[in-house]
Amino acid sequence: MTLDLSTYAADNGIKYFMISYTDLFGGQRAKLVPAQAIADMQKDGAGFAGFATWLDLTPAHPDLFAVPDASSVIRLPWKRDVAWVAADCVMEDQPVDQAPRVVLKKLVAEAAAQGLRVKTGVEPEFFLISPDGSKISDDYDTAEKPCYDQQAVMRRYDVIAEICDYMLELGWKPYQNDHEDANGQFEMNWEYDDALQTADKHSFFKFMVKSVAEKHGLRATFMPKPFKGLTGNGCHAHISVWDAEGKSNAFADKAMPFGLSAQGRTFLGGIMKHASALAAITNPTVNSYKRINAPRTVSGATWAPNTVTWTGNNRTHMVRVPGPGRFELRLPDGAVNPYLLQAIIIAAGLSGIRTQADPGRHYDIDMYKDGHTVTDAPKLPLNLLDALREYEKDAELQAALGTGFSAAYLKLKHGEWNTYCAQFTSWEHATTLDI
Ligand code: ADP
Ligand code: MG
Ligand code: MG
Repeated sequence: MTLDLSTYAADNGIKYFMISYTDLFGGQRAKLVPAQAIADMQKDGAGFAGFATWLDLTPAHPDLFAVPDASSVIRLPWKRDVAWVAADCVMEDQPVDQAPRVVLKKLVAEAAAQGLRVKTGVEPEFFLISPDGSKISDDYDTAEKPCYDQQAVMRRYDVIAEICDYMLELGWKPYQNDHEDANGQFEMNWEYDDALQTADKHSFFKFMVKSVAEKHGLRATFMPKPFKGLTGNGCHAHISVWDAEGKSNAFADKAMPFGLSAQGRTFLGGIMKHASALAAITNPTVNSYKRINAPRTVSGATWAPNTVTWTGNNRTHMVRVPGPGRFELRLPDGAVNPYLLQAIIIAAGLSGIRTQADPGRHYDIDMYKDGHTVTDAPKLPLNLLDALREYEKDAELQAALGTGFSAAYLKLKHGEWNTYCAQFTSWEHATTLDI
């Protein structure tokens, strides 16, 4: 039964709802709706001018309505009279094909029609930086190998513990927090869930981390590579597929290599087959390609892949199988759209199952040291344009995410690339002036 948001407001002392949707560039857009008006909004949605956000709509399009999915409602733990609710975009009573949450729901339904339930966990790393964005926020955080730095994580205890307390309160089952591999970088982990729930939590997590950081006079960034020479922000995804009831993990088979079942292997085969194209989604910004393909960082490793390879419990590859019944895709970065991340995983994985795709040989080498010895695996795209062109070549993946979505995404992302190319950089001035 659908939760009635009016009743929810009365029961919980909610004064305002944030009706929120995520656009194609991952921007979260919301209207603040007083509880007195939520009954109509729950039925009809909140009205937006779609053109004003990144959805490839024109000013002439009719109103876009964001219809709240009441099951996603979360009371803001840091502002208890407000509740956030994820919404689905609708126009003239039809779902908007290119809206990321609509795309994901379609793929979740496709998996369900095959009796499959994709469950994932994400690891969205972030930096705590100065409010003007120019540097990390902790002047003492300068170690060459700062990962798990006990002293540094405790200097940010007030921020990290506040966020973790909120996740405990929300029932997300968080289980660890640490200082990550770059100065100023942190990671917080909570338990995996169904793909749509993970996407909603991932969106809300970004909102929460930014909000709590701001409350403490800091700023949080998920930018893929905010500082040259330091490890970037990854957003690894751990993936498993379950039966329709969510009771039995279809990826688990102890008798198979790495404990990954035959179905798990074909799902992985789909990810491997479509890797170069799916980078257009998992690594969606110009800056993303400064994280993958990066030179060595100060800490000694980028922790990001540059080649389409998989392996067992070894963090130097694009895919790691850390233990039985799941695998980790290490390609996505902090700029990834939470909904499109899940959608592209399901799309590529279902393609793999459908075509019985083989993931190919696994490499058990240190890719950072011996990557040059791998001659039969594609290199990941070198920049956003490369990735967009790979996505353009991949008709199967385009169709799986929807031709309407794919056309809109490619159009807007090519526009972003063209804007980037029109920048006049100090580097080209310095290297070309005297030619
Ligand atoms: P690591 O840093 O070793 O990659 P983390 O502990 O930081 O691992 O993150 C692991 C993520 O994988 C968590 O979100 C966890 O809940 C999730 N996870 C664990 N088991 C599964 C599974 N069977 N299916 C999907 N996700 C899983
Ligand atoms: Mg981790
Ligand atoms: Mg990881």
